[in-house]
Amino acid sequence: MVVERSASIEALLEERRRFPVPEEFGKRANVRDPGIYKRAARNPEAFWARVAQELHWFKKWDRVLEWNPPFAKWFLGGKLNVSYNCLDRHLDTPRKNKAAIIWEGEPGDDRVLTYQDLHREVCRFANALKSLGVKKGDRVTIYLPMIPELPIAMLACARIGAPHSVVFGGFSAESLRDRINDSQAKILITSDGGYRRGTIVPLKRSADEAVQGAPSVEKVVVVRRVGDKSGATMQEGRDLWWHELVQGQPLTCPPEEMDSEDMLYILYTSGTTGKPKGVVHTTAGYLVGTYATTRWVFDLKEEDTYWCTADIGWVTGHSYIVYGPLASGAASIMYEGAPDFPDRDRFWAIIEKYRVNVFYTAPTAIRTFMRWGEEYPKRHDLSSLRLLGTVGEPINPEAWVWYWKHIGGERCPVVDTWWQTETGMILISPLPGLTTLKPGSATFPLPGIEADVVDEQGNSVPLGGGGYLVITRPWPAMLRTIYGDPDRYVKQYWSRYPNLYFTGDGAKRDEEGYFWLLGRVDDVIKVSAHRLSTMEIESALVDHSAVAESAVIGKADEVKGEAIVAFVTLKNGVNQSPELINELKQHVVRKIGAIARPEQIIFTAELPKTRSGKIMRRLLRDVAEGRALGDTTTLADPAVVQALKDKYGEEGEA
Ligand code: ATP
Ligand code: MG
Repeated sequence: MVVERSASIEALLEERRRFPVPEEFGKRANVRDPGIYKRAARNPEAFWARVAQELHWFKKWDRVLEWNPPFAKWFLGGKLNVSYNCLDRHLDTPRKNKAAIIWEGEPGDDRVLTYQDLHREVCRFANALKSLGVKKGDRVTIYLPMIPELPIAMLACARIGAPHSVVFGGFSAESLRDRINDSQAKILITSDGGYRRGTIVPLKRSADEAVQGAPSVEKVVVVRRVGDKSGATMQEGRDLWWHELVQGQPLTCPPEEMDSEDMLYILYTSGTTGKPKGVVHTTAGYLVGTYATTRWVFDLKEEDTYWCTADIGWVTGHSYIVYGPLASGAASIMYEGAPDFPDRDRFWAIIEKYRVNVFYTAPTAIRTFMRWGEEYPKRHDLSSLRLLGTVGEPINPEAWVWYWKHIGGERCPVVDTWWQTETGMILISPLPGLTTLKPGSATFPLPGIEADVVDEQGNSVPLGGGGYLVITRPWPAMLRTIYGDPDRYVKQYWSRYPNLYFTGDGAKRDEEGYFWLLGRVDDVIKVSAHRLSTMEIESALVDHSAVAESAVIGKADEVKGEAIVAFVTLKNGVNQSPELINELKQHVVRKIGAIARPEQIIFTAELPKTRSGKIMRRLLRDVAEGRALGDTTTLADPAVVQALKDKYGEEGEA
């Protein structure tokens, strides 16, 4: 399944556009010295220890790293508290009254919590949790919309040493129940409801249904978000209102002195490839990794307003809305609603309203904005922006350039950040003050990180070739295990190659050593003995002016091994036609070569995506091969794939 040096890799190398660091940006960047890479490589442990020294420790570590593959321990013997580092550490500095969380809610609500405010709210809720008998090590499941109580609850858990397990508020009762049972949580925190595009989402009802089948839950704490119209009912003896529970709680709560390797949280992966895994992160390494990368990659300055659009229910929100930015003393925006409510310019309106400087979003969102058209960003003053970021999937070069041009005003570097729930922190990304950018490339492993591209046997593939992305040294924020399933930890990540972390992603490096992510190795297509990455064919399609988004899969084919099927979403106002199908096929041939010519092109209004916005190609393969659909619990909208299945049934054989 290795992506060898092939026609398609040559085609990708055709991407010749270069974006050097803008001069002014480079002068002021947090990381300006290119020597950082060499310094880190010479002595990675000393390098990470230097970063760790910037944080607060009750007791300093004795040893930086103990590596018994595949088990790593970082900052052994150290004692610290993550909530202390995110809050208390700032309180005797001028940051005390600076915005920590700027919340933009629905409908029309907003709220700003300074570091002092957040500290107080976290302490009160930490005391409330203690009053319910929550002790160090007890798991707490948090199932909330994007409201301030979500980070408050997380930090309160961290304060008393109770690992949290945040479950995205869009998940069903069934998904919530599975995750509660897997982690055996004692407490569930939820709300009476939430808002989504002007309607009320009945979270409490899902929570009630989930708890029916989750006997570990003793108490349910309920935030009053919607009020009477939520229709939520409270169960006597089990359910408690948040606002009543915190009444009269002391305003301070001594932080638990946590061991470096004590568990901070469990978080389930997106489930793009199968059953979600309960990823375990621990205290010190995770904090050091997210703190450092926030400062390097997002170049945050004291005066910046930073906005990551992810939901806190995903790792991106954990690391880059909550822990990294707060440990760095940043002003971090969280937004409760959708990008198209009340209109398709909502994100741009928020950037204008708060004068956002650094903005971090996902390729799926960028492709949606492209489809909607430039008129929406044009309505707003986006001149405050100085840096843009992306995460979640490979970004098609055309989407990258659109983002750079229409959102960044051709002035802001774009950092394409590669990482995973498991890695905890960004591992491959430009340093915006140092790296010359190439659209579609995540560029290089960060200082202190060592990655490689290897073949089937685990041999490093020379520059210019492709294969499997592996990480060759332990890093501070790496997952420590899969909760309750240590065998799966070893099997999933460490069994393919001895002592190399297997990411499950394909990648290649160009002659200059830039990393290009090719998508999941399961998504590589083999056509007549050639290996093609779905990502490259999709990028060729998105390069056509009519196309907004596409998902490519390989369908079993007796002659070729696999035949290429492309699902395509057109831009607003473009009509489907047989001529356009031919034109698109020709376009792919021109960009990559005849070998990549799609056998079939199917137009669709939407693509099936996970709730975190990733395209689920495995379901498209099920559709194309006429199989029953695999696990769909993590789908954002099951109707999309059902419609495709019906449509494919009619057209598929054509
Ligand atoms: P599961 O592991 O349950 O199938 P998932 O892999 O989608 O779900 P996440 O941990 O949220 O869960 O996503 C990590 C994956 O997202 C990476 O392995 C990679 O495939 C993709 N990814 C993230 N950022 C990038 C990026 N900048 N470029 C390319 N791919 C990316
Ligand atoms: Mg994964």
